Amino acid sequence: MPNMSMQKAPMPSQDPVVRSGNFQEVALGYSLETALEESRRCLQCKHRPCVSGCPVHIQIPDFIHAVSEGDFEKAYQIIHQDSSLPAVCGRVCPQESQCEGKCVRGIKGEPVGIGRLERFVADWHAEHTQEKPQKPQSNGHRVAVVGSGPSGLTCAGDLAKKGYEVTVYEALHLAGGVLVYGIPEFRLPKDIVRKEIEGLKDLGVRIETNVVIGRTLTIDELMQDLGFEAVFIGSGAGLPKFMSIPGENLKGVYSANEFLTRINLMKAYRDGSDTPIQHGKKVAVVGGGNVAMDAARCARRLGAEVTVVYRRTEAELPARREEVEHAMEEGIVFHFLTNPVSIAGNEQGWVSSIRCQKMELGEPDASGRRRPVAVEGSEEEIDVDCVIMALGTSPNPLIKSTTEGLETQKWGGIVVEEDTGRTSREGVYAGGDAVTGAATVILAMGAGKTAAAAIDEYLQAKA
Ligand code: FAD
Ligand code: SF4
Ligand code: SF4
Repeated sequence: MPNMSMQKAPMPSQDPVVRSGNFQEVALGYSLETALEESRRCLQCKHRPCVSGCPVHIQIPDFIHAVSEGDFEKAYQIIHQDSSLPAVCGRVCPQESQCEGKCVRGIKGEPVGIGRLERFVADWHAEHTQEKPQKPQSNGHRVAVVGSGPSGLTCAGDLAKKGYEVTVYEALHLAGGVLVYGIPEFRLPKDIVRKEIEGLKDLGVRIETNVVIGRTLTIDELMQDLGFEAVFIGSGAGLPKFMSIPGENLKGVYSANEFLTRINLMKAYRDGSDTPIQHGKKVAVVGGGNVAMDAARCARRLGAEVTVVYRRTEAELPARREEVEHAMEEGIVFHFLTNPVSIAGNEQGWVSSIRCQKMELGEPDASGRRRPVAVEGSEEEIDVDCVIMALGTSPNPLIKSTTEGLETQKWGGIVVEEDTGRTSREGVYAGGDAVTGAATVILAMGAGKTAAAAIDEYLQAKA
C-alpha cells in the first residue's frame, strides 16, 4: 500500500540554538522505520522521470523498491552501479533541481525524499559492511590524476578497479578537494570522505599530497620523465573572485575559499593553531550561493554576529533553499538588495565597516535574471571587523600556463570533448570544475567516470 502523504518524512536535525555553537552534522538522518515509510511514497512510475533528473542516472525506483522491501544492501548495490559517493551525494546534491525536481509526487505535494533515502542506504552500508575492496591485479599501465576532489577520486577509483596503477597528486596536505576544504563538517562529516579515500587506497591508488602540478612537477614531466601514459586533470576551480572595491586589501578581508580552508582543513580557529585566523566578532559575507551560506554558518559557529549581503532579493538567492533556511534559523541576518561599495579600516589596517548601496531590480540581464540597479543616495554603513567575499571562483591558470598545447576557454576552463573528457593534448583528459567552472559534486563525479572509461579505451587501443 503506497504512502500517500503529501509531505516527505521530516529529517531529524540538531536544534538551531545548539548547533549554531558546534560543528557537528545538522541533519541526523532517517531511522530504519522512517526510511521504510518514505520509500512507500514512491509510485514506481513506469516512465521513471526521476532517473532523467540524476546526472549519473541512478536507477532510483529500483533502489527505493529495495528499501521498501528492507533489502538495504541490494539498494546500496543498485546505487553503487552508477555512483561511487552515495553518502556524499545523498547529503550535498541539489536534489530539488535534479532527481527530486522531476519526481511526480512533487506535482501536488513534496517529492519523494530521494536524497534522504540515498543517504540512509549509504550510511546503513557503511555501518553494516566491514569488507575491504580487493586490490585488482595490475594491468601494467600507469595513469596520473591531478587533484583529489570528487572528479579525480572517481576517475582514480574507476581506473584502479580495472587494474591501472594510479597516482593522485594533490596540492594540499589532505586529499578530498572541496569535500574536505570547502563543505563544512556540519553538512558533510569528514569521516565519510576519509572512508572513501581509504577504500581507494585499498584498491591500490597512491595519493601524493603537497605536490602542486605546474610547480613541483609539470604534466610534461609526469608523462615524459615519470612514465605515466595518461593524465586526468581534476584540479577544480579554486581561484576566488573579488569586487575590486576600495578597502579589499585590508586585514580581515578573506575570500570564502581561504576562510573555509583555514577553518575546515587547518582548524585555524583553535587555540595554539600554527596558522591562527582573525575570524571576527561581526562578520559580513558578500554573496548568496552555497559557498556564502557555508562561510556565514562557519563564522556563526565561531561566535560571530553574521550578516549576509546580497544584491538581489531572497527569491533569487542561488543557494539551496534548505541551506538558507538553516542559516536563518541559526540567527544569520540577511540584507537583500544591498551591494558593497567600499570597506573602511582602522589605524592598524583592520576592517572596521563595510559601506553598502541599496539596489532595486531592473530589466533581465543575459542570464535571464533581473539586473540589480543602484538606488542613488541610499548608502548605509554596517559595522564589521571581518568581510568574507563569496562571489564565485574560476580555474587556476597554473596548469594551463605550464602545459604545452592545452587549450582553455577565455575564463580558464579546460576545453574537452564532451563525451570523453579528452583535451587538446594527446593522453591528457580533464573534468569537473576545471572544465565547467564551479558546479556540483555529482557532475564532477560523472566527469571523472566518463574520463576513466575514455582513458581505458585509449590505453587499451594503444596496447
Ligand atoms: P575540487 O573538489 O575543487 O578538487 C580539486 C582538487 O585539486 C583540490 O583538492 C585542489 O587542491 C587540487 N588542485 C588544484 N590545483 C592543483 C595542482 N596544480 N596540483 C595538484 N592539485 C591541485 N556541490 C554540491 O553538489 N553540493 C554542495 O552542497 C556544494 N557545496 C559547496 C560548498 C563550497 C564551499 C564549495 C567551494 C563548493 C561546493 N560545491 C557543492 C561544489 C562542489 O564541491 C564542486 O563542484 C566539486 O567539488 C568539484 O569537484 P572537482 O573534483 O572538479 O574539484
Ligand atoms: Fe539525486 Fe544526486 Fe542521488 Fe542522483 S546522485 S539520485 S541527483 S541525490
Ligand atoms: Fe518514485 Fe518519484 Fe521516481 Fe515516480 S518519479 S518513481 S514517485 S521517485
